[in-house]
This record gives sequence, structure tokens and C-alpha cells, in this order.
Amino acid sequence: MNRLAEAAGSFALTRWVSRKTRPDFERWQAAALRRFLDRDLPRAPFYRHAPDRLADLPVTDKALLMARFDEFNVHGLTAAQARAALERDGCAGSLTVGASTGTSGNRGLFVISEAEKYRWLGTILAKATPDLLWRGMRVAVILPQNTGLYDSARKSRLIKLAFFDLANGPESWRGALEAFDPTVIIAPPKILRHFAAENFRLQPKRVFSAAETLDPVDLPVIENFFRLPLDQIYMATEGLFAVTCREVGLHLAEDSVFFEFEAAGEGLVTPLVTAFRRQTQIMARYRMNDLLRLSKEPCRCGSPLRCVDEIVGRMDDVFRLRSPDGPMLVTPDVLRNAVLKADHRIDDFRLVQTASDGVELRLPPTLADDAAAAAHQAVQALLAARKAAATVTLIRAPLPLETGRKLRRVECRLEPAR
Ligand SMILES: [Zn+2]
Repeated sequence: MNRLAEAAGSFALTRWVSRKTRPDFERWQAAALRRFLDRDLPRAPFYRHAPDRLADLPVTDKALLMARFDEFNVHGLTAAQARAALERDGCAGSLTVGASTGTSGNRGLFVISEAEKYRWLGTILAKATPDLLWRGMRVAVILPQNTGLYDSARKSRLIKLAFFDLANGPESWRGALEAFDPTVIIAPPKILRHFAAENFRLQPKRVFSAAETLDPVDLPVIENFFRLPLDQIYMATEGLFAVTCREVGLHLAEDSVFFEFEAAGEGLVTPLVTAFRRQTQIMARYRMNDLLRLSKEPCRCGSPLRCVDEIVGRMDDVFRLRSPDGPMLVTPDVLRNAVLKADHRIDDFRLVQTASDGVELRLPPTLADDAAAAAHQAVQALLAARKAAATVTLIRAPLPLETGRKLRRVECRLEPAR
């Protein structure tokens, strides 16, 4: 199928679905999911003898998908073949291979068809910029290039796309980006913040934070610089999961993904996703690593798609500490809030669990000493209140822009629990 037709078809479907009522939407989604379970899922060897009902399928995760990579894609591509393709140009025949930017040894691989690649683009544009499209737009996508998805349609009458490789560092393409004069920018929040700090000459009409968790501490800096509300695209190796609407509701991409939720404590959930429009690499009841807070209210925009109040961080970054009452967990949002609420002058930090009883708080030397002391005190008080046995060490050091990995202000560096 023609590439732009695939993107346009996806655009139209996405718009059409967004106008349905919730009951109508659920009927449409149930039928689409049924079709996927009957027709697409059994084409992957792992599911050859799978039960009919979604609820009876096993829960999957990254470790399982990577260990039995060839059984989860309908072409029998092995992980070794996928890695070899990635080393070359990311192409395995007509398929595209991509990898997540995760920590080394823990990178997720994915494989998609040409059609799926363009569907992604159409969906993004339909959700993100329906009103801009008809006026013609220039979209700058600034993401790690090894994600493979983005090397899509570069140019049409209405859309010009330009890709800037994060791995090369912003200074290598600053001139080209400014000359392109994008009307839409899609980039990780740390890069958007870098544009503000370095005063890049940009005048977009819409700005999207993507590929990393948007930390509330970055939001005002970015919004003040662009004088625009910051929108969000929540996506991972595994696909596109949520996009903000014009009313700033962060809507789950339920028009391509069926979500189930597992409780994770503190009112948070982790999603199990079934990507019912994927036909190459099958993803069913796949456990994501993210922690979400679901909205209780529907969004004012009228879309039937459910909203998320916040993507809090990753399950891997929950601190795992010991207390006299046994093992205890502290989620990233609670830790982050303790630091930020300690003093309003704090606008950047790193909080890392380095041992089962050790935590490091890093703050830049430019921050006033009393603010740093207040943050140090706040983290100690939070852990003491929960009777956690841990020493918090304060380190004053610059926090450089890292383009080679995801920014995680709150990070747990212990070996995974599972
Ligand atoms: Zn909305």
C-alpha cells in the first residue's frame, strides 16, 4: 500500500474514533480486538495454540519477548538477525528493526512492517495536530535514530518532516534546525529544556515532549520559553500509548491498544497492553514498566479515550528499601516531590538508590547551600517517616546534559527484583 495513503488512512480512522461516544467506542474496540485475536495473534508461533479469550492468555514482558523473539513475530525473524540488521541500517528485508534506548544489556528490540511505520505517523499527526495539518506544517522530530520508526515519509504537499539525531548532540544540528523553522517540535523534555537554556531561535506552534517521562520541574521552563502549553506523546519501544489533546488531557491510545491495569500501590497502576493493530510483532498482555495515575474525570474535549493524570515514572525506579516491618517501596513521584517541595529554587536534581541502604542526592553547585540542605533534610525525613533504613548522601556536582541515555531524575540502580 502507498505510504502516504497508509498514514492518511490511519489519520482518518483516528479522527473518526475520537468522535464516538464511549459505549460506541467500546463496541468498536471489542470488534477490533476480536479480529486481532482471531486473525493476527495466531500467526505468531508463540500463540499457535492460544486460548480464544484475551483474559486466558499469559502475561508477557520484555524478558520473555527478547528470550523468544522469533516466536513473537510472524516472519520468524530471530533476535540475532534483528541485532545484525540494527548494526547495518535497521532493515531486515522489507521490515524495520528498532531498539529502545534502555540501559545496556536491557535494550528492547522491535520489528515493524513498512505499513505499520506509516500508520504510526498518521496516528501522531491526527492526535497531535489536526488543525495545523490543513495549513501545511514543518515537523521536527528529535529522537534517538535507533528507534527506526521515524525514518518515514519525509515530505508531502502538507507536511515536511525533518529528523535530528539526538546521539549527535544539539550543537551539531542547531543551525539546520533553526533554518528549518519547524511549526511542530517533537523531542525529549531534556532537549526542549536545553533549547530554552541555550536560547535556540525557534517559533513553533506546538511542542511535544516525547520518549522520556515529563517531569513537572521541566514544564514551566519549557512553556515559558516557547510561550505555549507543552503537549505530551507517551511512547516506548512498544509503541504509541498516549497523546495530549487540545484540552491538555493525556489520552490513552485505546484506538490501537487495549489496556488492562495492575495496581502498584499509592493509587498507581502499571499497564498490560495488547496492541491490536500490530500485525508483525505480536504484543498481547505485555507488562509495561511504567507507573501511571489514571484520571477519574473524563476530558472536556469529548474524546471517548480515557485519560491519564500523570506518568509517574518507571517501575524499575521504585526505591526498594528495608524497614523493621520488612521490605518497603517508595515510588518515584513521592521522592521527586520531597526534593522539589523542599525549596522553590530547586529545578534540577538526581536522586539515586545505589545500595539496599544507600541513596545519593545530587544537586548542582549553583544552587544555594540552604536549599540543598533543605532537600537533603526532606529526603531523610521522608525515609525516616517510613522507617526505611537508608543513608542519604548529598553530593554537589554539575548535572550535565546526557544525550546517550534517558534522563531519570529518580533512579534505582539495584539489580531488578524480578
Ligand atoms: Zn481531551
